[in-house]
Amino acid sequence: MIFMRIHEVRCARCNRIVNTKAWNTKYCFECASFLRKKIRQKKYDSKRYLNLERREKVKNYHKRYNHSKNGKNKNNEWRRNTLKGRINTFLNNLNRYERRKGVITNYSRIELIKKMDRIRLLGICPQCKCKLSNIPRTPNYLTINHFPPIGIVPKGFVYTLDRLHLICTSCNCKDNQYSFEKYKKELEKNE
Ligand SMILES: [Zn+2]
Ligand SMILES: [Zn+2]
Repeated sequence: MIFMRIHEVRCARCNRIVNTKAWNTKYCFECASFLRKKIRQKKYDSKRYLNLERREKVKNYHKRYNHSKNGKNKNNEWRRNTLKGRINTFLNNLNRYERRKGVITNYSRIELIKKMDRIRLLGICPQCKCKLSNIPRTPNYLTINHFPPIGIVPKGFVYTLDRLHLICTSCNCKDNQYSFEKYKKELEKNE
């Protein structure tokens, strides 16, 4: 008689303890089948992506849809009424401003979003300890403060992620009143 031993395994995806007969599984049955399906879909998508004719077709369809009345309304709604859309427009405007001033950034957009998410999860401004709100153009909305400010920096200045302070709007407005001398040392350090 063959004795099958049953193992207790903690699933790496859903963090649930399950009994399995296989000794080398990482996931529970549901998670394993979900992941298998996902891998299959990825293969299928990559094959479709290599089809140039199809890619052109999809591109043209999106172009036509985005210029139609329905598409414009839907895009505007996404930008105004969802958090992801608001962050996207905010960062697009910031990118345009940085490009115009000739400033170099040393981080990716995903890294910046992760940093913003961490503070949004806490829900408190790091400087004045007020409660943050999700409504734009209010005093408690989360904004980015560049140190030193983009307006006074020379062309080709490099911004790292440490130079961006994420604070509320009212703190950001107060900070603009400081004189140029405060930033002089920082500018010399960069040169
Ligand atoms: Zn699981
Ligand atoms: Zn604040």
